[in-house]
Amino acid sequence: MSDQNTYPAQSRPILLSVGRGILCKCPNCGVGKLFSGFLSQNARCQHCNEPLGRYDAGLLTALLVGLVIVLIFAGAFLVIELAGGTSPLYYLVILLPISVAASLLVMRPCKGGLIGLLWALRANDRLER
Ligand SMILES: [Zn+2]
Repeated sequence: MSDQNTYPAQSRPILLSVGRGILCKCPNCGVGKLFSGFLSQNARCQHCNEPLGRYDAGLLTALLVGLVIVLIFAGAFLVIELAGGTSPLYYLVILLPISVAASLLVMRPCKGGLIGLLWALRANDRLER
């Protein structure tokens, strides 16, 4: 069940695959859903039958999201403290929930983008040889 949106095995454009992954779509066809739950990955694309379960981003998603969020919010804390500081309650009530919400918001597109990158680079195909 392949159409003109799918790519032959030789050419897998990286930017398009990552973009489709960020949109939580199959990196091959751009139509099928990449996830069946919040972060649970479909084993195969329901549209083009691409074996998506072979490309597992694993803990790299959480590592990247955690690193980026920590850098952003540590910078915000530093700027606030250098500007004279504020109540520790401000950090606890305002910035901590925002950082958790931001992490959850970017987790799914980040995992999708990583899966798209792994698919484009055939990362798991090389391991199975
Ligand atoms: Zn597909």
